[in-house]
Amino acid sequence: MNNLTIVSMKKLLFSLLSFSISLTLFSQNPNYVVVIHGGAGNIVKENYTQEKIDAYTQKLQEALDATEKIVKNGGSAIDAVCAAIIILEDSPLFNAGKGAVFAANGKNELDASIMDGKTIKAGAVANVTTIKNPILAAKEVMLNSAHVFLIKEGAEKFAAERGLTIVKPKYFFTQESWDRLKKEQKDDKNGTVGCVVLDTHGNLAAGTSTGGMSNKKWGRVGDSPIIGAGTYANNETCAVSATGHGEFFIRNVVAYDIAALMDYKGLSLKEASEFVINDKLKKQNATGGVICVDKNGNVSMPFNTKGMFRAFVKSNGETAVLMFQ
Ligand code: ASP
Repeated sequence: MNNLTIVSMKKLLFSLLSFSISLTLFSQNPNYVVVIHGGAGNIVKENYTQEKIDAYTQKLQEALDATEKIVKNGGSAIDAVCAAIIILEDSPLFNAGKGAVFAANGKNELDASIMDGKTIKAGAVANVTTIKNPILAAKEVMLNSAHVFLIKEGAEKFAAERGLTIVKPKYFFTQESWDRLKKEQKDDKNGTVGCVVLDTHGNLAAGTSTGGMSNKKWGRVGDSPIIGAGTYANNETCAVSATGHGEFFIRNVVAYDIAALMDYKGLSLKEASEFVINDKLKKQNATGGVICVDKNGNVSMPFNTKGMFRAFVKSNGETAVLMFQ
């Protein structure tokens, strides 16, 4: 064997080695991830008929499948987040869009927000009563206004101008939410919805949509439409969507706190999210949970309640739809 052959064989071996290293890295870092939630709370098996469990499971699976299809085909994290949330908003099972809880004045006042981890742009709406899909209004605010947050009639007028579907307030009526108001069941309709996505371009996005808390004072705004509290995304760290007792999530700036712990303290996604939900919030008797995905495709879904509707799928095939602990 002459020297030249030895050199080219070495080169071949080296490229084979680097190829297999990058393959290993690739398989450890799934190139897309979708995580969704449908609210946290007193979600225990005894409270649900098998029929209800099946209905929730099917709806979460439907949202997961539709969203996965978008990212699999190279769609953006933002479009994927909206697709998941629209399906959940359109379902009366959840406390968002159709099926939202009633405020004390007998109205459905809806809140939603979205954030793009690539551009750090965000959009939100609060206290809207006629926008069929509040998440789309949040997206319009982010992409087509000079603002981040629009509320009430101003948000509704803007949504109409942007061509979104406007409905009569009674569209949001469900007997179950109405009965809940009459029983003054303040905080036991779970079902705020949210989605976080890592797309195949390496971009993160997060979105959250809710009817808030049953029997809330009218005019009350929770954490869901507040960027940093209920929703946050930044390609440098992670994407987070929260659900729980909104007042605590606002005071603790939960979604941003998780990202900040990763950014400033070098915590992993799991360490940061577990600390905020199961240590910091728990000490304040603050109930709820979060779904998160980081820029490397790691997923964390901690909650300090009895259960949380949640589901995820990764491009490496890992997937689950869960309700209970
Ligand atoms: N976080 C929502 C709110 O306070 C409610 C929930 O997630 O259940 O408006």
